[in-house]
Amino acid sequence: MPPVPDQAQLIARGRQSYAPNYQPREVVFESGLGSILKDLAGASYLDFGSGIGVNCLGHRHPAIVDALKHQAERLWHASNAYFNPQAVQLAVRLTQLTFAQKVYLCNSGTEANEAAIKIARRYGFDQSDGSKHIILTFQGSFHGRTLAAVTATAQPKYHEGFGPLPGGFRYCEFNDIDHLEAQFSDEVCAVLIEPIQGEGGVRPFSSRFMQRLYQLCQANDALLIADEIQCGMGRTGRLFAYQWAPGVVPDIVTVAKAFGAGLPIGAALLGDKTAQTLRLGSHGSTFGGNPICCAVANAVLEQLTETDLLAEISRKAKLLHAGLERINQHLQAFREIRACGLMVGAELTGHYAGRAEQVVLRCLEEKLLVLKAGGNNVIRLLPAYTISDTEIEQGLALFERALKRI
Ligand code: PLP
Repeated sequence: MPPVPDQAQLIARGRQSYAPNYQPREVVFESGLGSILKDLAGASYLDFGSGIGVNCLGHRHPAIVDALKHQAERLWHASNAYFNPQAVQLAVRLTQLTFAQKVYLCNSGTEANEAAIKIARRYGFDQSDGSKHIILTFQGSFHGRTLAAVTATAQPKYHEGFGPLPGGFRYCEFNDIDHLEAQFSDEVCAVLIEPIQGEGGVRPFSSRFMQRLYQLCQANDALLIADEIQCGMGRTGRLFAYQWAPGVVPDIVTVAKAFGAGLPIGAALLGDKTAQTLRLGSHGSTFGGNPICCAVANAVLEQLTETDLLAEISRKAKLLHAGLERINQHLQAFREIRACGLMVGAELTGHYAGRAEQVVLRCLEEKLLVLKAGGNNVIRLLPAYTISDTEIEQGLALFERALKRI
């Protein structure tokens, strides 16, 4: 057996061989359990980022390990030319739990949005002579990296150099009802919205805005597509974030990230208007509905709906929010703490303004993993739903120590 390279060697090799689109931090994680990650040198880190909102049950939760092992011994892949029990169970479960009548399974968030965008275009095509094709999205949004999803993402920094971009997207102001009303016309086939913008800085749309958007979509026969890839699957204490706006029911909801708890899976949940839109052969994915990913997603849904996990998320969220308020009383570091369950954005101010990257690095030195959002001005916390009360308090103490070192 060749000797296992040490951490520094691995980092150097990674730098040489990875495409330069990422700049990983100077740490190599080797194992994880619950909310603790261990690096190759044996140091432990407290995880307040969950791999960008993915490891919702923490690392190696017994329910998902069991589901994975069980499935690994049976079937890994058979393709969408056949049924498999795990994908069928997952699709049925999602239709029973939600407004969805049908489910399209894929492998990632951007693919779920890509499917939703194609469905919206096809829906508009079926309702018109082709003129109903505009999709409205919002400033500060993030919908993924494929060419259509990145065009839906209304942030020019993600577009630069990738033109020509697909046409037919129109960007609306964040939380601005007057602006939204002015954008509607017969040409609009859909509105794509993150009920809480994640990458854009943990910015929730108001319930009033979501309700007006829902009315406008209905009045204009446009689809309401909720991108719940980051804010959904329990993160806010309800299965979906749109459910905080009374009366609002989207036509399509896209999910990924926490849905697979660490395995790559996404889905578009389709309500009655779009249940039949994807005609035979019109869309697909080799790995979509993969039995291993579906087995794990089934285990995630079981935890979310058959245990007290959602209530626990809300209870733990209060602890986390109270602790952040306490830090702010000491340090006046945050202009605003935007907290929706265990999805938290602390917007930096004063001495800390524009220094999110530095805060993330100081936290890393303190062995606490946190995320940036909203450019360089928001610290985003997305801990696992299973994090313990003690770990929340420990993380808050590390966070305060890191802030004091800025
Ligand atoms: N939509 C939202 C709201 C996201 O936060 C992300 C990823 O961060 C995506 C879409 C893209 O998901 P993926 O990276 O799985 O393609």
